[in-house]
Amino acid sequence: MIKTIQQTPNYELGNILDKIGFIIHGTQGKYKGAINWLCTPPNKRNPVSYSSAHYVVSKKGEVTQLAEEKDITWHAGIVRNPTYRARLYLNRTGLIPKPLPINDKNYINPNKNFVGIECEWFTGEILTEEQIQAVTQIIKSSLIKNPIILSHSEVADYKVDFGRDAKGMWNIQEIIRRVNK
Ligand SMILES: [Zn+2]
Repeated sequence: MIKTIQQTPNYELGNILDKIGFIIHGTQGKYKGAINWLCTPPNKRNPVSYSSAHYVVSKKGEVTQLAEEKDITWHAGIVRNPTYRARLYLNRTGLIPKPLPINDKNYINPNKNFVGIECEWFTGEILTEEQIQAVTQIIKSSLIKNPIILSHSEVADYKVDFGRDAKGMWNIQEIIRRVNK
């Protein structure tokens, strides 16, 4: 895995002990453009907007790390109508090591608890073999034990990355399969 470090200014200090998993995203843009955007501070955007992630993975499997995993990036701030599978983690089921943060039945911003991985991807595509391998390697070399792995779509129904249909879910299922192999 070829890994480049390029620290984004868009982060907050966090603690690795708060991290319980990964949320996988699709960029809807090219690799270099995604890195540049995620490193652009909110006040340099028109209109002002907040986004960043810990990693960006190209179709060739190149990896740029934008923040340390312990720190907080802005990749999945809003939970809306999560899937059943995501709700298993979002609710206090007792079936998993740690639940997602929940506060008075409202899901709170999960960014503190999840590392964000952005994959170079456009709607309708599936991840490349190189991307699956790179994402698997990132997760396997992380300090997070038994990580929860979700897609952005599973957490927020208005997000298209990667979609809740079988084709979209294949991306996540394949990553989970490789991580557990
Ligand atoms: Zn996303």
